[in-house]
Amino acid sequence: MKYSRLSPIVTQKNSKLVRIDSEKSSRSPLFGLDAAELAAVVVGAGEPAFRGRQLAQALYRQRVADLDAITTLSKPLRQRLAAEGWQVGRPGIAQVFQSVDGTERYLVGCGGADGLTVETVWMPEGDGGEAGDGSGIEAEGAEANVSGSRTRATICVSSQVGCAVNCQFCLTAKLGLQRNLSAGEIAGQVVSVLDRHSVEVGRERVNLVFMGMGEPFLNYANFMGAVRLLVNEVGLSPQRMTVSTSGIVSGIEQFALEPPEVRPKLAISLNAPNDKVRSQVMPINRKWPIETVMDAVRKVKLRPRERVTFEYVLLGGVTDSEEQAREVGRLVRRTGLAAKVNLIAWNPGPGIPYEMPEAGAVDRFRVALGAEGIPVYVRRPRGRDIFAACGQLKRTVEDRPGVTSTK
Ligand code: SAH
Ligand code: SF4
Repeated sequence: MKYSRLSPIVTQKNSKLVRIDSEKSSRSPLFGLDAAELAAVVVGAGEPAFRGRQLAQALYRQRVADLDAITTLSKPLRQRLAAEGWQVGRPGIAQVFQSVDGTERYLVGCGGADGLTVETVWMPEGDGGEAGDGSGIEAEGAEANVSGSRTRATICVSSQVGCAVNCQFCLTAKLGLQRNLSAGEIAGQVVSVLDRHSVEVGRERVNLVFMGMGEPFLNYANFMGAVRLLVNEVGLSPQRMTVSTSGIVSGIEQFALEPPEVRPKLAISLNAPNDKVRSQVMPINRKWPIETVMDAVRKVKLRPRERVTFEYVLLGGVTDSEEQAREVGRLVRRTGLAAKVNLIAWNPGPGIPYEMPEAGAVDRFRVALGAEGIPVYVRRPRGRDIFAACGQLKRTVEDRPGVTSTK
């Protein structure tokens, strides 16, 4: 197990070398505060509240990473904020791994005193659907014509350092839970990646999937805090965000209470056709079996045309037979939910005792499930060569042939 502490690392951004120091600042981050909280900060520094809006614009729209570079604020105000112990404090990209398929995987320094990093992934063409999860394909063409904007990419975001859930097929589980990320650390991954790719929010559409390291619904308040920042301050649409949970019923019930203006779409990691198999591959199923998860999901009021996604990882010889596909079809139909299924061929990882599905198995499963009347998509694995694909996020820092790592 390797932990990449932030020893001084130099990373390349637009040919500029950026130095990230291991010395941790004791200053408080402004990044992560919403407009009202920023207004309170500037009022505390003796300035009118509207300067908080300017500060929010600089942090979240102009993506300024250094307090001194926020030139919309007067120099004395910047100096006063610094003297009061504030800094921008946005998580920075510490290391970049580039895949042959265009995917990039980043180690993002959280900026906390513990020097921990998390992983974020940029998929230039998504991974098989407009939301990067196969959802909403049907709305894509129509929307693109109306707004004239084009879909740029999908960003896969982490919500915790490691994960406590212990799914048997997942590499992130091997880390255990190191700690929760703050709302600023979750939103900061997105803003740093948008900045790296010079994305113009509003003109180019970006999909977010909260499917990186960690279980978002076991860090619920910070996860939703990040969503609110990304919607209200950064300007991204919640309808282009999807959160995936392993089936944390308490979290799904809270999620059902969120107003639609800030609610991402929901994906449930089903991964098995019944409780017996699911409890083997996902021990969390013993606490919250399939029916309790479905009861909670039914409480989430879907928008018109919205569907819940069920993710289904195909483990060779364990969950990938055609009979199991039919069982999944019956199970999904029984829920009565507007739903679709995303199939993911299992991505291998060191020390995980499963097999990839045999050639043709994914397709046979897809056809058998489709024949049950369930919309079904296959998620393309992105960035497998750099350990960026689903379930491979474990802060793997060693170089592999064909992998470009800019340090
Ligand atoms: N913790 C959340 C979100 C992150 S995992 C959850 O489990 O839903 C995102 C998806 O990757 C989940 O559907 C999970 O089942 C899947 N996954 C985990 N390990 C995988 C692997 N090795 N290969 C393919 N998919 C995997
Ligand atoms: Fe955690 Fe999701 Fe991996 Fe399960 S699949 S261990 S919930 S990250």
